[in-house]
Amino acid sequence: KLHNIVQETKGNIRVFCRCRPLSKDEVSLGQKCVVDFDGSSDGDIVIANGGTTKKSFKFDRVFTPNDDQDIVYADASPLVTSVLDGYNVCIFAYGQTGTGKTFTMEGTESNRGVNYRTLEELFNIAEERKESVTYDLSVSVLEVYNEQIRDLLATSPSKKLEIKPNSEGQNHVPGLVEAKIENINEVWKVLQTGSNARAVGSNNVNEHSSRSHCMLCIMVRAKNLLTGECTSSKLWLVDLAGSERLAKTDVQGERLKEAQNINRSLSALGDVISSLATKSSHIPYRNSKLTHLLQDSLGGDSKALMFVQISPSDNDVSETLSSLNFASRVR
Ligand code: ADP
Ligand code: MG
Repeated sequence: KLHNIVQETKGNIRVFCRCRPLSKDEVSLGQKCVVDFDGSSDGDIVIANGGTTKKSFKFDRVFTPNDDQDIVYADASPLVTSVLDGYNVCIFAYGQTGTGKTFTMEGTESNRGVNYRTLEELFNIAEERKESVTYDLSVSVLEVYNEQIRDLLATSPSKKLEIKPNSEGQNHVPGLVEAKIENINEVWKVLQTGSNARAVGSNNVNEHSSRSHCMLCIMVRAKNLLTGECTSSKLWLVDLAGSERLAKTDVQGERLKEAQNINRSLSALGDVISSLATKSSHIPYRNSKLTHLLQDSLGGDSKALMFVQISPSDNDVSETLSSLNFASRVR
């Protein structure tokens, strides 16, 4: 039976689905690909669930395991560059741990992801426009873990960081480091500093990073040299905590607390996006640090993009369906 979930894109959120390749280990364990990309150019994806049932989902765009970082970035690029025209923008990667969220956002040194490519393109456009507009770019890198904000660019431990409105009514975190970026050569180093700081104080880097949200904020201050007008806007790039449900053997202690906080913030994100889509009069931004931080970049005339990251393996089919269902809720 083929269920067709076809909905119009609501509001200003676009949803792209990206499926990673089967890993060597998965292949050697005999795992099979259950994702069918027929018609993926139309944004369709079909999951064969146990052979007989098939479930189809529709996205603004589907990236197959063969689509490289440059293809993926090319489709995100128009959204990214709208921050230079004064829009607040938010791009985030959602999915089970191991599906490529960090690969899409951070990438690797030789295969850079959305974060680096974004800054590279912002610098290029700033250069092209320098006769008429000057742009100041700065970045903050932070982590939200157990509903606490940690500054990943701070050189010494900071006091408790809280979200406060600034004089323009935008959310702001007093005390957070804002690193001014002068040119593209500094970018990869700053991004790596942030990324490496996630490991500090945790005994397993990968485990820790799958349980926290890693958030990069690019602040753009523009001055129009012809009119003298100044504007500021920001772009959030977010590598979310893993969306997988907790293993039954892990339901106690610190793990339980982490899992509840992740669950709470990811559902808060889903609630915010779906209440924006239904034009609800109350948008529950304050239910988590994640949504509170993203408030100015979700809703209003801001623009958002979600990457739903999935595994192709038959071994992951229930988590895959759960991620695709989350995504269809926000579309
Ligand atoms: P997550 O951040 O969601 O936990 P990762 O980004 O760490 O997942 O990806 C898990 C592994 O899969 C990494 O080794 C990564 O390099 C690899 N990977 C993910 N997506 C792709 C892709 N599109 N192409 C090639 N390798 C990928
Ligand atoms: Mg990761």
